[in-house]
Amino acid sequence: MRVKVDQELCISCGACIDVCPEVFDWNEDDKAHNIVDEVPAALEDQANEAKESCPTDAISED
Ligand code: SF4
Repeated sequence: MRVKVDQELCISCGACIDVCPEVFDWNEDDKAHNIVDEVPAALEDQANEAKESCPTDAISED
């Protein structure tokens, strides 16, 4: 699976980074972005949890 953050929708709450820091981190605009292209199978549940934790639905599967 691949994930991506819609930069227009991200409000920089940090929830996705708290839940899954192996996949999400801050970028230079202080928004979240994905730091891996392909989410490793072992992290898929965590990445999905991060996606569901996003208050603005900014995270989508790519
Ligand atoms: S949970 Fe959503 S709004 Fe919050 S930092 Fe992550 S992508 Fe941005």
